[in-house]
Amino acid sequence: MQYPHISAHSEDIVRCIKCGLCKSVCPPYLETFVESEGARGRVALVEALQDGRLTLSHILSDRIFTCLNCKACVEACPSGCNVDDLVLSLRAELASRGKIGLIKRLVLNDIVPSRTKLDLAVKAGSVFQRFPGLFSMLGLDGEGGFPKLQGRSFIDSHRPGRRVRNPVMRVGFFVGCGTNFLHTEAGEAIVWVLERHGCEVIVPREQVCCGTPVFNSGEFGTGRKLAERNLEVFEKAKVDAVITGCGSCGLTLKKEWHEVLGVDAREFSNKVYDFSEFLVKELKLQKPRRSFLLAVTYHDPCHLARGQGIKDEPREILKNIPGVNLVEMRESTRCCGGAGTFAFTWPELSRKIGSRKALSIRDTAASMVTTSCPGCYLQLRRVLRANDIEMSVKHVAELYASAL
Ligand code: SF4
Ligand code: SF4
Repeated sequence: MQYPHISAHSEDIVRCIKCGLCKSVCPPYLETFVESEGARGRVALVEALQDGRLTLSHILSDRIFTCLNCKACVEACPSGCNVDDLVLSLRAELASRGKIGLIKRLVLNDIVPSRTKLDLAVKAGSVFQRFPGLFSMLGLDGEGGFPKLQGRSFIDSHRPGRRVRNPVMRVGFFVGCGTNFLHTEAGEAIVWVLERHGCEVIVPREQVCCGTPVFNSGEFGTGRKLAERNLEVFEKAKVDAVITGCGSCGLTLKKEWHEVLGVDAREFSNKVYDFSEFLVKELKLQKPRRSFLLAVTYHDPCHLARGQGIKDEPREILKNIPGVNLVEMRESTRCCGGAGTFAFTWPELSRKIGSRKALSIRDTAASMVTTSCPGCYLQLRRVLRANDIEMSVKHVAELYASAL
């Protein structure tokens, strides 16, 4: 059988020298010690499929979907093997042959791409969530609670703020689904901070999901459509820069539309910044007026730290707040186990991976943990609660905004 998605990455299979260094950093493997749930094992699965020693079975699908796309293996590999690309290519083979569950396919290809349908689904979910018994009957509460859905999305409730006179720049805010539906406070803080730094902020209402959950599940065709729709929307907005407050949205807009989906987005990608990157590199970071006597730790989102190489900028913002003492946790770049929908599709494994993170956070004795991604924000809250650790969780923008 021909596997075109895998063939496009066959040089990565050849690069793997089977040394196993990637296993020592692969979060699912470190919990299960199952070879096929670790990075090296996943390369072997792809190779066996290509050689005809395996077929596209449910077991193979299960194994390949336990990858978090955290990219720790890519960073650790001495041979330059892109395990993440191989995993996605196998998922694309599964999706192109309809080997992904019917409900998941419907959600990814029909609901997520439509602003109207997604808004309606979330509104229905927020009503439904008031009856926890019914919600858990559908298995949607996961381990430690499904996140509280906001009845009104950030985009729906956002009203253009104060008029900025002589703006230093006209910027577009790419909101992303996590901020739009689950962590709207982070969106408000980002817009407020950008305006306080003299930017005119445009929030195009027609923007859609960046496509991360869609193409990470192998649905490349729908991922491409989402990329093209967003490119059209932001081109119309005529902005100088596009800002996101989500590590995964940022990685997708900067690199993956082009590198994974083959969409011609290079010109647009050059204008994309993470919130912290934009503030530190492009604007003059203002010193806040208020001070807090606060010990704060910071969790690095995988797609921001490894995906985009942004580690210093969020820390610089935190250290700039008077009175804040930044305390580093052990393994701050280790995945929290959230990984988008992973926390709900693999709740037990996600909880185990997240518990290691929760203990690293607890050992800092900080009063607050900050991050730069709505997915990590939700997972950190969930795993801290599951481990009986009382600590507040905030997006870096929220803490900075409250001090400005
Ligand atoms: S992917 Fe890289 S680190 Fe992992 S076994 Fe292969 S060569 Fe070694
Ligand atoms: S991306 Fe993360 S979870 Fe997936 S194989 Fe690599 S280290 Fe393991």
